Amino acid sequence: MEKSSSILIIYTGGTIGMVNEPVTGTLVPIDFRHISDQVPELRRFGFHLETVTFDPVIDSSDVSPDTWVKIALAIEERYDEFDGFVVLHGTDTMAYSASALSFMLTGLEKPVIFTGAQLPIGVLRTDGKENLITSIEIAAARDGNTPRVPEVCVYFENRLLRGNRTTKFSAEHFNAFTSPNLPPLAEAGLQIKYNRNLIRYPTVRRPLTISTKFDTGVGILKLFPGLGRSLVQSMLATEGLRAIILESYGTGNAPTLGWFYDELRSFITRGGVILNVTQCQAGSVEMGLYETSEGLRSAGVISGKDLTTEAAVTKMMILLGQEQSYERIKSLLTKPICGEMS
Ligand code: ASP
Repeated sequence: MEKSSSILIIYTGGTIGMVNEPVTGTLVPIDFRHISDQVPELRRFGFHLETVTFDPVIDSSDVSPDTWVKIALAIEERYDEFDGFVVLHGTDTMAYSASALSFMLTGLEKPVIFTGAQLPIGVLRTDGKENLITSIEIAAARDGNTPRVPEVCVYFENRLLRGNRTTKFSAEHFNAFTSPNLPPLAEAGLQIKYNRNLIRYPTVRRPLTISTKFDTGVGILKLFPGLGRSLVQSMLATEGLRAIILESYGTGNAPTLGWFYDELRSFITRGGVILNVTQCQAGSVEMGLYETSEGLRSAGVISGKDLTTEAAVTKMMILLGQEQSYERIKSLLTKPICGEMS
């Protein structure tokens, strides 16, 4: 008989496990027992399930690179014991965490599925039960001995998305996440249908290693009509700032104002890195398509193509934390490391 799957659930916090605080009525995260009591179905899985609970459990607005290191270490420590990992996480910063983990876990050959809920698991209409149950099923899915989705993913409201392609787009609907530039890796209806052509399978086998060094000297500069020089100047002069994610218009366009380019050029000359992503919900930067983006290219701005802002920020923090040479950072920014860009 085939060995039953074993799944490690890493509970970090988030709405899925929250209850109303008795005095103030605000939602606060509580322990995993509360979740498992609400989902007796977990016992009906024929899987071996274990849980690691963060101490303290947090609202994901409090996530920082230290949280990502904690998640990565929890996976690394028990990597050989389990077939897959489910990370319960608040939805607010889930796309950042899933992106970060995808860059941190090199040589990953097992599923790491992030999920959570828009309504607490104790609420009758919760979306948390389905999200949790199907995430476990996906984390356990195998073809023979090969895990079916050996990637860091987000599972939410019937869709499995590549983690570093997701963004939270709804604060209201159960369908809270979108992957604007890559179709779902799987869709759950009566059956779970996997899009095998899109799932990344390791081509070389190597042991899992984790990167834990981040440099948080990264800023996001979102363009808007009326953006003034003094704001740009003071942002780019921030001590310790090493890189900017420039959220530009459309296919990567920016105003043609002379001062704007002077500021960007001066930052780049001082050793700063500028990565151009679009502030549109979907699509890609194509520098040089319009005159308004050609200037960015000649100033030394790098195209982030169809990276989400979440993937751009976390990839930048990791590359700055690990790589010394500007040339190497620049070259790694222009190509996909783990499926984050087309
Ligand atoms: N504020 C919550 C969090 O991100 C929202 C959620 O879980 O949906 O932790």
